Amino acid sequence: MKAWMEVSEERLAANYRVVAAAAGAETDVLAVVKANAYGHGAERCAVALARAGARWFGVADAQEGARVRRALDAAAFAEAQILVMCGLMPEDVPVVVEHRLTPVVWTREQVGWLSEAGIRVHVEMETGMGRQGVKPGEGLAFLLDVALLGSRKVDGVLTHFAAAEVADGAQTRTQRREFELAVAQIRKRGWKLGWVHAGSSSTVDNVVEVQEWLANLAKSVGARAMVRAGIALYGYCQPIAGEGHSRIAAQLQPVMTWRTRVLDVRDVAAGETIGYNATFRAKTAMQVALLPVGYSDGLRRELSGSDSRPGGWVMMGGRDGAKKKAAILGRVSMNLTTVDVTGMDVRVGDEVVLLGDGVTADDHARIAGTIPYEILCGVRGEQM
Ligand SMILES: *Cc1c(COP(=O)(O)O)cnc(C)c1O
Repeated sequence: MKAWMEVSEERLAANYRVVAAAAGAETDVLAVVKANAYGHGAERCAVALARAGARWFGVADAQEGARVRRALDAAAFAEAQILVMCGLMPEDVPVVVEHRLTPVVWTREQVGWLSEAGIRVHVEMETGMGRQGVKPGEGLAFLLDVALLGSRKVDGVLTHFAAAEVADGAQTRTQRREFELAVAQIRKRGWKLGWVHAGSSSTVDNVVEVQEWLANLAKSVGARAMVRAGIALYGYCQPIAGEGHSRIAAQLQPVMTWRTRVLDVRDVAAGETIGYNATFRAKTAMQVALLPVGYSDGLRRELSGSDSRPGGWVMMGGRDGAKKKAAILGRVSMNLTTVDVTGMDVRVGDEVVLLGDGVTADDHARIAGTIPYEILCGVRGEQM
């Protein structure tokens, strides 16, 4: 095996417990397992999270929902609820029915396709994310028009914050007001809902006040409050803008360890260059190791190290077992990467940590100018 991913179900469960504790007793946590659980494997993660206490799971589309449902059924979690968060197409309807999925809907077309099915839906309110949802001003008309509440098919309403990581930010405050309007209309009609949900990992992490607000909003329509957490379950959380740190990040552990093995070890003389365009030139004699992974596997090309700019690193154990940083030298290629193992006593076949303890998705994201989400989703390798 060239490269493989170890997914720690213990860490996943521990992270879930951290998030659930931070969310508080009034608020349930929907475990987001979309995008193949941020690259960690949706089926196994959903089962591990169900064992840790999760009852709601968020997937991207109906196909992913079907896979997660089969895994949860096989593990005897038949009561689990699966929310299809990122849209519905006509061909998804039989999949939704067969696998008891709960789609998020916001257009009359979507509701029309579902009309025969008699299944539960959640309605998304557009409050400022500008992506999907009904505007609160039209929300009531939407619910009335499709007579959803009459047939008790609307099980929940939700919205999504565009800047949940900003402490007490103006964006979130505006979105909260808009969502309140939508829920107030439902309350005035005397309708009852099962769930009112909003927010992501950062909401759990952020101001406690948002959680109180959500819990009260849910209660006003006889519903349970819920937050939808993804990234924190996998061990990462953005620092809260305005506070500079994440409250829960210190308690979270990265779930994924991405490993490979040394393909070759070579001596490099002073003056020799490494990789495409010879961007790295050895100043002294060095020893380098060749790794059988590159940007086609998700090891970002921005991690390349040149004479003028250090790049990323991997963690390697010498014979003494202690892991040390080995800097990436030259350009990361499509399938190969060279690292500095000078003085490390490394041999062909030795294990290398590409991502995990000592080199996190936050490190990769910082160097590559992106977010840990994109790094985790981009990792390819066998899952263990
Ligand atoms: C992905 C997603 C989340 C989870 O966000 P994290 O920042 O990973 O916690 C929550 N809600 C919706 C609608 C999402 O698409």
